[in-house]
Amino acid sequence: MNFCSQCGAPVVLKVPADDDRPRHVCPSCGTIHYQNPKLVVGCIPVWDDQILMCRRDIEPRKGYWTLPAGFLENGETAADGARRETLEETGATVADLTPYLMVDIVHIHQIYLMFRSRLLAPEFHPTRESSEVKLLRKNDIPWDDIAFKVVEKTLRYYLQDRPSDRFPFRIDKIEKK
Ligand SMILES: [Zn+2]
Repeated sequence: MNFCSQCGAPVVLKVPADDDRPRHVCPSCGTIHYQNPKLVVGCIPVWDDQILMCRRDIEPRKGYWTLPAGFLENGETAADGARRETLEETGATVADLTPYLMVDIVHIHQIYLMFRSRLLAPEFHPTRESSEVKLLRKNDIPWDDIAFKVVEKTLRYYLQDRPSDRFPFRIDKIEKK
């Protein structure tokens, strides 16, 4: 951050009184600009033994396969956000969202919350964000072309749990290489 979003003056980086880390502080109006991690919400949309995946048509990782996920917006619940992202990226409607996996990615200031979900119908289509949307069986998952580590983790946990039909809530993390 370079300029204060309240008054437009240049901000400085300093540790405010009674704080323990540097913040962007506006010397003109006194506003302290706190920056906090963002929540990314997404789905594992399931139809029978198949998982709905999409091929990214936007950067980053354009051309690679992913599960629908994106930043939670103000004014929506985590589940609403995951449902919206799924609709935006795949054209599909999901129901019965159940929290399944939380992944801390501290170095990029993100937390992922992935939900299991059920496709209401096997209806989906390419979208502005996805060049291809497909239902994939376990053996068809393109492991070498997965867009993000968090997506790979989500798929592996899900496929590991599926034979027992027990899906405990899981917590994992991704650390800087
Ligand atoms: Zn200011």
